[in-house]
Amino acid sequence: MSGAVTPGLVCGHHHLYSALARGMPAPPRVPTCFTEILELVWWRLDAALDLEMIRWSAMLGALEALERGTTAIVDHHASPNAIEGSLSVIAEACEAVGVRVVCAYEVTDRHGPDGARRGLEENDRFLRAGGRGLVGAHACLTLSDATLEAVAGLARDHDVGVHIHVAEDPADADAGARLAPHARSSWLLAHAVHLDRELPGTVAHNPRSNMNNAVGYARPQQLPNPVVLGTDGIGADMLEEFRVAYARLRESDVTATPETAWGWLEQGRDLVPEAADDEVVWCYEPMDPWHLAFTPGVGPVEVRVGGEVVLADGRPTRVDPLEIRARAREEAQRLWKHL
Ligand SMILES: [Zn+2]
Repeated sequence: MSGAVTPGLVCGHHHLYSALARGMPAPPRVPTCFTEILELVWWRLDAALDLEMIRWSAMLGALEALERGTTAIVDHHASPNAIEGSLSVIAEACEAVGVRVVCAYEVTDRHGPDGARRGLEENDRFLRAGGRGLVGAHACLTLSDATLEAVAGLARDHDVGVHIHVAEDPADADAGARLAPHARSSWLLAHAVHLDRELPGTVAHNPRSNMNNAVGYARPQQLPNPVVLGTDGIGADMLEEFRVAYARLRESDVTATPETAWGWLEQGRDLVPEAADDEVVWCYEPMDPWHLAFTPGVGPVEVRVGGEVVLADGRPTRVDPLEIRARAREEAQRLWKHL
């Protein structure tokens, strides 16, 4: 490989449905803590999503990933009023753009037992149909013990892991105790900022999101788990997330090096091993952590996924980016009217 080529980058924790949130009307009042951010922003937004909005937010999110050399997305989806079929819509959208995706539907008890059952069923339906996925769950703070057990059981039945938010905020600080009987090495634990014990699984570190929600620093360098980088829905520019991860790491330890954060970025390929065979030709050389930690704006010129050129001269080959952005804007307007 030349110095300008890397394998595909992986976003280890994404919410493609949040692509239409940017510019949304302000919440009824300013959220003053993490749980209010959920209640006043995200839980109003996800409740208003329908399948067409989900399709175009996923198209836009996948396009933005491809345009930044990210060839695989590990997604975590919620749309409590459009559950059935939602994971297939996301998988189809990513396929249309040419980006790999691992889907999960966020099971939660915040819409009662029926909502939890339908979430479980969507994970089950998608996996049964041969979809690439994990079993999704919101976070212990919105899951009963019985639902948590059902989530873990469904994942065991399908021989896949669980993708769940873990101790993102002190409000979810008992997640470690609640998950200890269930967690396995195949699980994907998003955040782990306030995790009070060792749990098996891969930790997805989302430094920009953690700062945005003022939940604290996860200190991933101290975790015994494999660590990958995610964006938590703030795009899929993984070189950018690497830079933020390095800056945050360095802020906490002046002896830390970019290689540590680069290792987290590379570890993402353990979640989607085929991304290792994808090829990204960048506009910069060498693609070395010490260069990239201090070089913003590096972008891909060409991207090959599974041998097919899906980005040439910086432009996607399978889809029209102008059309996707125009349709996504229309769907965003429709979504915001429901808020
Ligand atoms: Zn998340």
